[in-house]
Amino acid sequence: MVRSLLRPMTTATLFNQTIRAANVSASAATAPLPVKSVLIVGGGTAGWMTALILARSLIPRGVEVTLVESPTVGIIGVGEGSTPWLRGFFDSLGIEEAEWMPACHATYKCGITFDRWSTRPGFERYFHPFASMLDNLTMTQFVHNANARINGADLHAHPDRFFIAARLAARCKAPKPVERFPFDIWHGYHFDAALLGEFLHRKAQARGVRYQVAHVTHATLDATGAIASVSTREGGELRADLYVDCTGFQGLLIDKALHTPFVSFSENLFNDAAVAIPSPLGAGPIPSETVSTAMRHGWSWKIPLTSRYGNGYVFSTQFCSPEEAERELRAHLGLLEADVPARHLRMKIGRVTRHWNRNCLAVGLSQGFIEPLEATALLFIQQTAENFVKVLEQGDLGEAAHDRYNEGVNAHFEGTRDYIVTHFKTNSRTDTEYWRANGANLNLSDPLKQLLLLWMNGRSIAPAVRQQALGRGYPVFSWYSILAGTGIFPERENLRAPTAQEAVYSMAEIDDLLDRSEVNYSDHAETLKNIPPRRSGDSLQVYFW
Ligand SMILES: Cc1cc2nc3c(=O)[nH]c(=O)nc-3n(C[C@H](O)[C@H](O)[C@H](O)COP(=O)(O)OP(=O)(O)OC[C@H]3O[C@@H](n4cnc5c(N)ncnc54)[C@H](O)[C@@H]3O)c2cc1C
Repeated sequence: MVRSLLRPMTTATLFNQTIRAANVSASAATAPLPVKSVLIVGGGTAGWMTALILARSLIPRGVEVTLVESPTVGIIGVGEGSTPWLRGFFDSLGIEEAEWMPACHATYKCGITFDRWSTRPGFERYFHPFASMLDNLTMTQFVHNANARINGADLHAHPDRFFIAARLAARCKAPKPVERFPFDIWHGYHFDAALLGEFLHRKAQARGVRYQVAHVTHATLDATGAIASVSTREGGELRADLYVDCTGFQGLLIDKALHTPFVSFSENLFNDAAVAIPSPLGAGPIPSETVSTAMRHGWSWKIPLTSRYGNGYVFSTQFCSPEEAERELRAHLGLLEADVPARHLRMKIGRVTRHWNRNCLAVGLSQGFIEPLEATALLFIQQTAENFVKVLEQGDLGEAAHDRYNEGVNAHFEGTRDYIVTHFKTNSRTDTEYWRANGANLNLSDPLKQLLLLWMNGRSIAPAVRQQALGRGYPVFSWYSILAGTGIFPERENLRAPTAQEAVYSMAEIDDLLDRSEVNYSDHAETLKNIPPRRSGDSLQVYFW
């Protein structure tokens, strides 16, 4: 019997985390902090996000926060897509979308379409959504159908029909409901990286962060091996109780000064370079999604801003040269003859072993990087800085606190790495050596091997995700989305008819529910012209099934 969506039913158990504008409580505000001065080296997105997070809680308590930036080394200038956590960042600082989004040419992001990663018929394309309150009505059904499908039942298990975000993205709608519709949608953003940096810079200075332009040449260590000071080319020496390394891939403090060991992920993930080319927006609608398209030796991103598209090709230099990659990207974008300059970048994939080492915290590319397939780097920046503030507020800077903190960041890195690896492992392309090598790559973590084994044996993967570091990277529905979305199901000659217990949900009813919900969301381009204010009582609702 088909179970009605409208009848009372057991909904998915959701972990609902709310982030509101933070107020330093009276008792916390008076407790002494273990540091009196912080020096952030580096003024890219990592430097300014960290400065704002630290400023919010430390400056009111008398801590001096200074950011020093080189006049000659530029920022990386890419990194234009986010996860929904960025909304929590701005909310916690009390900065409205209506203020920062136009300043950064920002658009809304409902999720990511993965195109041509799989060659399995019907699964050539799928959408990885950001889950929301509304999905509480359809996520159980998706997971139920996917579990039946891995057991051979002929049921619809492609994720796209189950998530409102997939609908909105397919129709270029904004994830902002009309006033009367009570469902908040979890969404991310796209933005111009350089403009975001400038915006954050202005805000941080207005909130009391001191700013200095100087090129740091080296750090001097004290007898314990901690950083005593940093010297600048301009001649000055800068001292602080705590140093934050935001110098990008070069890791001037965490690596060059403290020699913190680095764990490379190059055996798990082959991509080590990228080429970026902007393209005009054109006359059509503005999409509310990132599109990631599998290419011959990697994948390309397409990110819509209000002023242009940001495009890039992430590839492996083991399999193709930067020139070949640029040519392929230009052909893909229809820009073979266009006089648009391309930017070539190298990427160091992996993480340091200790993000907090002695009196130095590494944030951003200096602490590590996983290729940008799911746009997670800003989330790492945010969580690394936010969690460090919590440690400072607890006042314990002992060895055990260091270890606990670093274990937490490392688990987040490993869980995210495994999710990204899954994209390459589940692909079914065999057209180039690159894809064949990815498909054959056996360098998978034990938790990921176990998870794939469970799936291929027709077992629920939810408990494994929740128990392992895998869940620190991505929630259960994301793991179901990637596996079901690429159509990697246990090999079977023929699918069988579902049992009565399996066929409990009606796809027609799910379609109808989403049809009726979708009318409450408007055109993306129109919404961006007049960004709605945060609704009273609105806060970031984070759903993890
Ligand atoms: C191809 C690619 C695509 C990406 N896409 C995404 C994405 O979609 N989403 C996402 O979240 N992230 C993405 N990222 C990551 C993102 O770009 C970075 O995490 C983010 O920009 C932060 O960089 P950063 O501030 O750590 O480093 P940088 O931007 O490199 O900044 C380094 C700063 O350090 C300063 N500096 C360097 N040396 C010195 C010195 N000697 N003295 C003083 N100052 C110094 C520089 O002046 C600069 O201000 C992407 C990265 C790459 C490579």
